[in-house]
Amino acid sequence: MPEKFFLQTQKQFKKIAKFLNLESEIIQQLKEPQRILKFQIPVRMDNGKIKVFFGFRSQHNNSLGPYKGGIRYHPNVSEDGIKALSMLMTWKCSLVGLPFGGGKGGVIINPLELSKNELERLSRGYVNKVFPLIGPDIDIPAPDVNTNAQIMAWMDDEYSKLKGKDLPAAFTGKPLEMWGIKGREEATGYGGVIILEKLSKIFDLKPEKTTLVIQGFGNVGYYFARFAFKKGFKIIAISEAEGGIYVSKGLNPEKTLKCKEVKGKIAGCYCAGSVCDTSFGEKITNKELLQMPVDVLVPAAVENVITKENAPKIKAKYIIEMANGPVTPEALSILNKRKVLSVPDILANAGGVVVSYFEWLQSKEKKKWKKRKVLEELSAILGKAFDKVRDLSQREKISLRKAAYFIAINKVAKAIK
Ligand code: NAD
Repeated sequence: MPEKFFLQTQKQFKKIAKFLNLESEIIQQLKEPQRILKFQIPVRMDNGKIKVFFGFRSQHNNSLGPYKGGIRYHPNVSEDGIKALSMLMTWKCSLVGLPFGGGKGGVIINPLELSKNELERLSRGYVNKVFPLIGPDIDIPAPDVNTNAQIMAWMDDEYSKLKGKDLPAAFTGKPLEMWGIKGREEATGYGGVIILEKLSKIFDLKPEKTTLVIQGFGNVGYYFARFAFKKGFKIIAISEAEGGIYVSKGLNPEKTLKCKEVKGKIAGCYCAGSVCDTSFGEKITNKELLQMPVDVLVPAAVENVITKENAPKIKAKYIIEMANGPVTPEALSILNKRKVLSVPDILANAGGVVVSYFEWLQSKEKKKWKKRKVLEELSAILGKAFDKVRDLSQREKISLRKAAYFIAINKVAKAIK
């Protein structure tokens, strides 16, 4: 799967490069990361023994500015998967006009198997291996799947120690006390809802009559659900890795999260209004969720969930790609033919990196931003990027994805030249 993900991401780039008529020397430089670090992280475990973990940092391209991208801790982390995600970061930062290039990192680990102390030693060990090649103006990591503000705090502390001075702009997604920014936690989901509102305006979707299903109920899925619910949209199903729930009259995400915290999973949390009751809903699988008759489908979990096998069965009219790479290229051609409109990941989920940029600025200037300012500036940047993509797609009669990649790749290619 990860190798396939990289090949797909590369294929997508090559398709646009051909369309843009890019010179072969530019294609050579962009089809692979500029640098990929692959290293061992020996960690002393609580039982006194050393265990060796494997880490990666992929630096795809820095023509527009320092590399930027998260570090994920997951058993499925692989070199190819990290390479693909770093390439997507280059396009994403370019599309929304940030002065950053693309990077990504990861460690092959199930973090649930480590104690807090072991996790801290692993995180500090990661920084020890990459520290000469990262920094506020070189490569700025952030949290990703299974990493969080605490891990960024350990990492930034380790980096600052190695450099002999406090450098909070070396990482983003940090706790507020370490120059973290208000609004970062909800930024990606919030940004997705800005896109949802844009679609609503264009296609005259009335929130109370518009149904949504959301795959993934982690950081992105939850906040997307929460803000969409606040705007009056009707969320009829959500899911997590173990499966999902369906509530025909619409569910309340905050109640569902509270219920999940008690039960440990969302199965059985059928919460409508302010009440959770089993008679409100039914269990559904992730497969069923993707194929439900609904207005908007929001994949917010993992890559490659909409494939050529299930694309013919998707009944949603609109897809907002909140996960990275949730739709395969083959699935996309099927969806395009079926006139299902899909908002590409590099636009839909860019809210997180935009607010990371604000955090980077704040950490450099040591001047705190108010949350209102964060969310207003985020809306302005994402709204403008959406309009540009939509205008180009209308003008050239191409998909939103093609238009987004066209704008993003063109800008990076010009910078290289
Ligand atoms: P997370 O770990 O907080 O949540 C992931 C959710 O997906 C969980 O609910 C999990 O149970 C569910 N899930 C995992 N595997 C699944 C599967 N096979 N089928 C269905 N559900 C599954 O992660 P997150 O931060 O919410 O990130 C989700 C996606 O969004 C990832 O693709 C990530 O790269 C992307 N993304 C995240 C951010 C961010 O700011 N967090 C920004 C941009 C993109």
